[in-house]
Amino acid sequence: MDTTDTQPARRTYDVVVIGGGPVGENVADRAAAAGLSAVIVERDLLGGECSYWACEPSKALLRPVVARADAQRVPGLDHAVAGPLDAAAVLAHRDAMAAYWKDEDQVAWLESVGVDLIRGHARLAGTRTVAVRTPEGDGVELTARHAVAVCTGTGAALPDLPGLDAVRPWTSREATTADAVPGRLVVVGGGVVAVEMATAWQGLGSRVTMLVRGEGGLLPRMEPFAGDLVADHLREAGADLRFGASVASVARTDGEVRVTLADGDHVVADEILFATGRTPRTRDVGLETVGLTPGDWLHVDDGCRVTGVAGDWLYAVGDVNNRALLTHQGKYQARIAGAAIAARARGEAVDGTPWGAHTATADTVAVPQVVFTHPEIATVGLTAGEAERTGRRVTVVDHDLSRLAGTHQYGVGYRGRARMIVDEDRGTVVGATFAGPGVAELLHSATVAVTGATPIDRLWHAVPAFPTISEVWLRLLESYRDRPVPVKAG
Ligand SMILES: Cc1cc2nc3c(=O)[nH]c(=O)nc-3n(C[C@H](O)[C@H](O)[C@H](O)COP(=O)(O)OP(=O)(O)OC[C@H]3O[C@@H](n4cnc5c(N)ncnc54)[C@H](O)[C@@H]3O)c2cc1C
Repeated sequence: MDTTDTQPARRTYDVVVIGGGPVGENVADRAAAAGLSAVIVERDLLGGECSYWACEPSKALLRPVVARADAQRVPGLDHAVAGPLDAAAVLAHRDAMAAYWKDEDQVAWLESVGVDLIRGHARLAGTRTVAVRTPEGDGVELTARHAVAVCTGTGAALPDLPGLDAVRPWTSREATTADAVPGRLVVVGGGVVAVEMATAWQGLGSRVTMLVRGEGGLLPRMEPFAGDLVADHLREAGADLRFGASVASVARTDGEVRVTLADGDHVVADEILFATGRTPRTRDVGLETVGLTPGDWLHVDDGCRVTGVAGDWLYAVGDVNNRALLTHQGKYQARIAGAAIAARARGEAVDGTPWGAHTATADTVAVPQVVFTHPEIATVGLTAGEAERTGRRVTVVDHDLSRLAGTHQYGVGYRGRARMIVDEDRGTVVGATFAGPGVAELLHSATVAVTGATPIDRLWHAVPAFPTISEVWLRLLESYRDRPVPVKAG
């Protein structure tokens, strides 16, 4: 602790971080590594949503489901995994992966990097000032010499449906922490959280019904073939998928949830999960004291400084700035913002150029994302639709993954597809999507190609090993080389 002030309830640090999720932890770590004093204020568990109610428990639930689906396609192994999963063992493993909802390990890590922790609810209280209310009801006033970083993340957004509270719906929190498998589960939504949780609970034994408002398929922000493939596999696993299905009302009677759809149809289940988006946790962080509106997303520049607040002291990093709601991308922003805070504190120049040390350029060019369903979906950069909307001159190259030696080795009856988007004016890859079992670990190759703007001509020299699924790169490059090109009239 840096006790510059004499009153015990007032403390001064170089950097004050509000929210100790993965992103807040990394901002504080980078500040401390640069020799600045730093404190995190956390009102719940250090480690945030990711460690206890999102990434970690959800992937622990999905891994056995996906591994079994893969193993069922391996001759000689298929019979050994024909039976149901041991749900109790999976849930126990999930509990371990969520550290039993205890944060001692992360607290010990924070101590080891020299960052202080204050438990409590933090609110901005004007320029470079943060007021904390501890669980004991005490007040602590923190002053930041250099920066305050708001890293408060997001919560689940629920629709405004009459009687919803009384139904006790699941949000992502209950979907990742439930200690029993519901017999019937309705999943409302068709995005990443919806498809991952539908895959997990269907695989664990629930009968899942997905209610998707749009007609455009699952994973609407991705290439259409990705959502189609996930939908096919969910149906084959026994899930009921309904598109154009809008929930009009919900009620719980005798332990059952009765869902009425806008077209008058009904669905009955034991639990209902709303995976209908995220909302920023900014309602009660004192935004009004710095001229901002409570409840809004915090808009930032490419260096994660909040726009509309003068003085280079207020940063918003991670989910709360709505740039890319992913742990790895928030931690990337934290490294960038942490370095910028340190540079400004030392009076050094800040490099705000694209791809500079203090610019989160990848947020707008190369955000990698894996959907851990069966099959996996892995994407980075632009989709074909996005490229078209930006008016770029691109070539879209597809390859059927089932035509690779690597996928034949991976499993019998492999289905999947890959797409590469080439910017014709730059001669580089600006987007890639892989959809198929085992493609998640392929993604970083695409991220490096997009981020590094590697010329297509040089990618020819990156030789994929035989027989891996990575050979799809070769096939995509061959298709690109052999694409029909318009012949000029002589
Ligand atoms: C079901 C699900 C699965 C996901 N899976 C993945 C995945 O596989 N990979 C991936 O990259 N991303 C995944 N995500 C997204 C990921 O969880 C978030 O991007 C990540 O948690 C954001 O980190 P953060 O630090 O910005 O916010 P959070 O993790 O939300 O942490 C914010 C912290 O701030 C604290 N806080 C809030 N307000 C205050 C206050 N006023 N005072 C003090 N403390 C406060 C909160 O208690 C919390 O600890 C998933 C999300 C969900 C919902």
